[in-house]
Amino acid sequence: HHLARIEAVDGTVKAFLEVTAERARADADRIDAARAAGADLPPLAGIPLAIKDNLCTAGISTTCSSRMLENFVPPYESTVTERLWQAGAVLIGKTNLDEFAMGSSTETSAFGPSHNPWDPERVPGGSSGGSAAAVAAGECVAALGSDTGGSIRQPASFCGVVGLKPTYGRVSRYGLVAFASSLDQVGPFSRSVADAAEILQVIAGEDPRDATCLRLPVPDYRAALEQPLTGLRVGIVRECLEAEGLAAEVKASVLEAAAQLERLGGELVEVSCPRFNDGIATYYVIAPSEASANLARYDGVKYGHRAPGEGSLAEMTARSRAEGFGDEVQRRILIGTYALSAGYVDAYYRKAQQVRTLIRRDFDRAFSSVDVLLTPTSPTTAFPFGAHADDPLAMYLADLLTIPANMAGLPAISVPCGFDSRGLPVGVQFITNVLEEARLLQVAHQYE
Ligand code: GLN
Repeated sequence: HHLARIEAVDGTVKAFLEVTAERARADADRIDAARAAGADLPPLAGIPLAIKDNLCTAGISTTCSSRMLENFVPPYESTVTERLWQAGAVLIGKTNLDEFAMGSSTETSAFGPSHNPWDPERVPGGSSGGSAAAVAAGECVAALGSDTGGSIRQPASFCGVVGLKPTYGRVSRYGLVAFASSLDQVGPFSRSVADAAEILQVIAGEDPRDATCLRLPVPDYRAALEQPLTGLRVGIVRECLEAEGLAAEVKASVLEAAAQLERLGGELVEVSCPRFNDGIATYYVIAPSEASANLARYDGVKYGHRAPGEGSLAEMTARSRAEGFGDEVQRRILIGTYALSAGYVDAYYRKAQQVRTLIRRDFDRAFSSVDVLLTPTSPTTAFPFGAHADDPLAMYLADLLTIPANMAGLPAISVPCGFDSRGLPVGVQFITNVLEEARLLQVAHQYE
């Protein structure tokens, strides 16, 4: 069914960089045979999933939507995908993203953008836009993405699906191509919160191959879903509803979502998180700094693109990087290298780390009086292609409301909460304290 659906719509949506049809059919046949033989089937048996193309899949190319990795076939499997296949899930294909997950629209992909299934003239969001579009267009049941500053939640909001970023360290990053290692986290896209819980259940948990992965037991996320919300204290973050560039229709939908939580037994409390307004400035120092270090490995020697021609090693490396990386990736590397250089590191990088702590304290203060925070996911609905083409700062503003959760390592989810007058989906974001995914999923499930 899903392969036929991809055949029918992906010429327009362009969610996939590669469709692994043969493998999917073989896996499905194997599971059918096991079922016919009366075997006990694992929890995700036969569920077709799409995987963002920055997660390594052994023997299947993993490009990060970059010329640099166009011909890279990983010899190993990421922990998250390994766990999904062990749970019986079926890989249906690898999905498009902004190059190395840097962007909010898939427009920086070296292989062309994906299109929003609700309006193909508009972006699906990013960077995990291919995964969000694939779920929204019915090309798979669910998908994985990665979220460094909003790359799961913002495209989920633009495409009208559920997108969950777990607590930093809840899910292994082994085999996720690193962008900003202190922020990156893998999570699911799905059409329901219950499906997101099923997938988190499988991918979460300690992994000796990722030193930042928490050694803590994984609670039963499904068990909490049906608990009522009586007495739940819901914090409405004032600064997020007064945010610059927040569309009036988005604000109205999100306030309606808050009213719905109140009807479900919640109590609305206004809270103030003034440092959230420094999130973008802080993120666009920290994330490029970490990226500049992580992307140093693409030197034309070890793997990835190597420019042909003669010259010194330094010349070959410079040419390979100039040819292999697109404009946005080069911009981030330059910003990061500058912010980390001697003489500037205290003024930029260390200062940003201090502000990051202050953002975290805003959350601590808020969670001393409420259980969950509610904000819009994105200030706007999906924008047309090229809308921010010559203004990277305008594009960065799309991350305003999602970045704080990454800065503090907190779990956050985007859930569809309505449509604007163009018929484009709006998303509401819920955020809880560290490791409170069960509570987060419960609130989102009761709401949806
Ligand atoms: N849009 C943000 C950026 O461009 C976030 C990306 C992400 O979460 N991977 O960096």
